[in-house]
Amino acid sequence: MFQEQLKEYFAARRAAFTADICRLVRIDSVKGEPQPGMPFGAGPAAALEEALAMARDMGFAVKNWDGYVGTVDFGPGERQLDMLAHLDVVPVGDDWTVTAPFVPVERDGMLYGRGTADDKGPAVAALYAMRAVKELGVPLQRSVRLILGTDEESGSADIAYYYQREKEAPMTFSPDADFPVINIEKGRAHGVFTADWEAGDALPRLVSVHAGTRANVVPGLAEAVVAGVSAELTCSAAQLVTAETGVTFDVEKSGEQTRITAHGESAHGSAPKDGNNALTGLLTLLCRLPLSDDGATRRIHALNELFPHGDWRGIAAGVARHDERSGATTLACTVLHLEDNALRGEFDGRTAIGANQENTCDVLIAAMAARGMTLDCRHRPEHCVSADAPIVVELLKCYEQYTGQKGEPLAIGGGTYVHNIKNGVAFGCTMPGVDNHLHGADEFAIVDDLLLSAQMFAQAIVDLCG
Ligand SMILES: [Zn+2]
Repeated sequence: MFQEQLKEYFAARRAAFTADICRLVRIDSVKGEPQPGMPFGAGPAAALEEALAMARDMGFAVKNWDGYVGTVDFGPGERQLDMLAHLDVVPVGDDWTVTAPFVPVERDGMLYGRGTADDKGPAVAALYAMRAVKELGVPLQRSVRLILGTDEESGSADIAYYYQREKEAPMTFSPDADFPVINIEKGRAHGVFTADWEAGDALPRLVSVHAGTRANVVPGLAEAVVAGVSAELTCSAAQLVTAETGVTFDVEKSGEQTRITAHGESAHGSAPKDGNNALTGLLTLLCRLPLSDDGATRRIHALNELFPHGDWRGIAAGVARHDERSGATTLACTVLHLEDNALRGEFDGRTAIGANQENTCDVLIAAMAARGMTLDCRHRPEHCVSADAPIVVELLKCYEQYTGQKGEPLAIGGGTYVHNIKNGVAFGCTMPGVDNHLHGADEFAIVDDLLLSAQMFAQAIVDLCG
């Protein structure tokens, strides 16, 4: 039986499989300065060359698409299946403890190093799946292609270039997310808002607010400076707000001014209820202080009205929406910088099926305009492949066959590599309940999970192209 054959095939090749992942992880493929033939810099280009050399040595036809992506082809006839993985990685910090980011090591069955899970390990798993089908001599009717991208982490200009030149296969999966299968990605409403006003100097007043670094991160920290408000009054208001919100505050007096630091809990912008937004906690507090009625104070009250603490569904902003398939719209105010007589802020919205420019972004634009702020917000539609589509049904079958677990399609708030591909879904390689520390320190992949993933991919190739 094919499943047994695959199991033996991969058990015999564990060492080579791991060594090939390490070959790619050792190459620092963080995006760099473009050079001729290297649109994303020398690192991604080197990782692409290495991966294509690996595939060529396995006997596959390969092609380098001007340094944007590489392709590995196998099988006769028309192409039925594309597998889409990437070789670029996100930057590293200096907080790694198990090993240096580009010096992969295996400990207790876990392979540590930048890219082991995102996405070099899964890329090698897909390549080995093709190799297994080839070496085990399973006849195919149609062909399969592995597409190796080099710009997934910084905007996916790689596959934009490729898909301007090549058609999408009838079916595509990307091993760059979670098992079982992700068939729905919510829409996105990212907003940038600004305002300015006549500077006032009446006391007490708000001097500045600083919170957040990126739209897609719920801030765990936020800071404000007020002038002419006593520290005692600020502290007693802060205690009440902490009791209501869980956000805690440090209050520090220096001369006329009081510095307030809010501590909440950071979370991904697509899952605001997993965190505790320090910025909206801080807005709650600022609105309870007896500040003069000036331009800054009015904008703070307006933001507190639109993004009240704990309202992660956009109810107050008038954009709440729910759909059985995708779940609820989420909305989080994530960035705010206010100083002197101007502010700039951002929010991150992940929208339920049914949301669009008119019922989401335009509503927010009007709500902000009515409160003296200018909002720039474009809605990006959701990605949705029907749960009955053959690609979803077949991949779930593979998952159930190889893991013994019930496979159900998932909807997520984030976007994956296949967001713009009509019949594209994400399939692996993270198993339910595993945290691979993606984009963080000590990123790792479980080698047995990758080996099992490779077996599922091989089965999928045979089922879909056989
Ligand atoms: Zn990735």
